[in-house]
Amino acid sequence: MKAEFRNHGILKLFLVAIFLFLNNNVGLAQRKSWTDAEFKTALKNAYEKFKDYKEGANANYIPELDKVDPELFGLAIVTTDGKIFTEGNISTEVSIQSISKVFTMAKVIEDSGSDEILEKVGVDATGMVFNSIIAIELNQGKEINPLVNPGAIATTSLINGDTYEEKWNLIKTTFDDFAGRKLNIDQPVYESEAATNQRNQAIAMLLNAYERMYFDPAEATDIYTKQCAIAVNVKDLATMASTFANGGTNPVTKKKVVSYQTVAHVIPVMATAGLYDDSGQWIYNVGLPGKSGVGGGIIAFYPGQFGIAVISPRLDAAGNSVRAQESIKNIVAELGSNPFYVQPRK
Ligand code: GLU
Repeated sequence: MKAEFRNHGILKLFLVAIFLFLNNNVGLAQRKSWTDAEFKTALKNAYEKFKDYKEGANANYIPELDKVDPELFGLAIVTTDGKIFTEGNISTEVSIQSISKVFTMAKVIEDSGSDEILEKVGVDATGMVFNSIIAIELNQGKEINPLVNPGAIATTSLINGDTYEEKWNLIKTTFDDFAGRKLNIDQPVYESEAATNQRNQAIAMLLNAYERMYFDPAEATDIYTKQCAIAVNVKDLATMASTFANGGTNPVTKKKVVSYQTVAHVIPVMATAGLYDDSGQWIYNVGLPGKSGVGGGIIAFYPGQFGIAVISPRLDAAGNSVRAQESIKNIVAELGSNPFYVQPRK
């Protein structure tokens, strides 16, 4: 009896020692694996913490976006080994909007090489609002960045194909492959934006005047508008993000969408310009490359590990979903999944 008791004591001591060792050596330092329970709890905690959060307002410069239920709140994580974790509303679709810009950019890099974007669009952050015309004027159409409207419309114009249909079909199938299913177009959003996007049309014409538009400007703007109206739910977005996390291969369907070399060029642009003119604050706080859209979605990913997405339509002044930013920040802190957390060598 006594010996047994002593053995339990030794076992306990041993377990405590292991715990202390792990805690000391892993702690909040760079982690590369999480249990299913940790992912689920982190999503649930963020949902509970922010479910009544009402800060911000729907985008209304595209009339149809103002009609989206502002309470919509969905969260998802898709790991690079294909596990899917969700919380909140996972079935309602919103228009992908600016998040689309990263996938179109990736496809151009994949098909035409990384210099195409570097030389014909530019990758430095403009530091200006996403539909800035001044940003074009300052550099005569150069250095306009694929993740804000001028650079994004130019990037869409660079997609392979000689006709509107060829370019559009290539974009659509690429997005389907990233999501792992056939996505639909939110027709009312597309029509609503097409009827009110005179500013984007002007941007495309101005770039054309500087010979920085690589297809008919009106058609390129229309394809871009349609790409922004692709409808996604939060699981689609997290899968698309996880495809980047997984070096360009969809972790669920296992289909290679783009190469890992392409993804390596996408990551820095997302890290420096993914959240409009608040991109610096984002990477400062979260450490993950991300991209937002005025439809209310934000994606982010930890290269090699997982993709995460949150949909919540109320935006801040920069155009980023307030609740999605807060949720992802919370989840990353809870998981200790900031890739810049590096424990010094002992
Ligand atoms: N389609 C929107 C526009 O061009 C996208 C803006 C966004 O999500 O930032 O204004």
